[in-house]
Amino acid sequence: MTVPTLLSTSGLKQDFVDRLLAEAANFTEVLSRPIPVVPALRGTTVAMMFFENSTRTRISFELAARRLSAEVVSFTAPTSSVTKGESLRDTAETLAHMGANALVVRHAAAGVPEAMSRWVNLPVINAGDGRHEHPTQALIDLFTVSRHIPKVSGLRLTIVGDIENSRVARSNIWLFSGLGAQVTLVAPGTLLPAAVDSWPVRTTGDLDSILPETDVLMLLRIQRERGAGARLPSMREFQMRFGIDERRAALLPDGALILHPGPMNRDIEISPAVARRDNVLVGEQVANGVAVRMAVLYMLLAGGDDD
Ligand code: ASP
Repeated sequence: MTVPTLLSTSGLKQDFVDRLLAEAANFTEVLSRPIPVVPALRGTTVAMMFFENSTRTRISFELAARRLSAEVVSFTAPTSSVTKGESLRDTAETLAHMGANALVVRHAAAGVPEAMSRWVNLPVINAGDGRHEHPTQALIDLFTVSRHIPKVSGLRLTIVGDIENSRVARSNIWLFSGLGAQVTLVAPGTLLPAAVDSWPVRTTGDLDSILPETDVLMLLRIQRERGAGARLPSMREFQMRFGIDERRAALLPDGALILHPGPMNRDIEISPAVARRDNVLVGEQVANGVAVRMAVLYMLLAGGDDD
């Protein structure tokens, strides 16, 4: 039997996505109980392998595993034998030999989770690899949107900011466009990838004109750790052209939603006043993160889904 993985949102089947959203809704109910724990994964061990910094993704996966009664072992690169020169493959195999049942992997290099899935015969979940993909974040975004706007087909999603360096943008583009949404990217030309012409999106630099035609607005921060700052004249200039302030937020149609995967840089991509608006769903995204990751872990470890 093929070991299931979640490495990318590209090519995810509608059935899988529908079931995942349904399971996430069930786990949302579990999380609202006084004791928000179910025994679904009792006896299993999930290994968190975080080679790159993370706050919310790591804690969210850990909580998700614990809420399913799985045991969690955590590995952080600065305190591990990776600093003694141990290869990624040896590290992954060591965890597999110790009895881990799944690996949740974040790494600054694209492709590491996929390589690990070839090296060990375990479910591997990509928790963010370089600029490549962050599939659980996109599934969280889809779940969050679907709680407000049930029909994704035909929905107009606008993603604004540092597209070039964003794995969140890529995973959302493949997921939402695969489900029939219309995706528009808004960014300075220097922060759009060269390959964008072959993506299922349209692009524009004119934010004001696209806002009235937007159902879901997704904001991204400038990823200075990946060199994005050098591609802009200044942060101030970016904020003036692409930041969402009260005037721009008012251009959105009634009922439009604003998402941000975090961490937010207030006063750059979003003003503090807009960040407090009711249609900004950042808190819901974080809360839904646990339920969606419970659904992913459950489907991959216990769901008998071998696709
Ligand atoms: N938290 C997201 C990620 O890990 C987005 C970001 O860092 O800007 O990709």
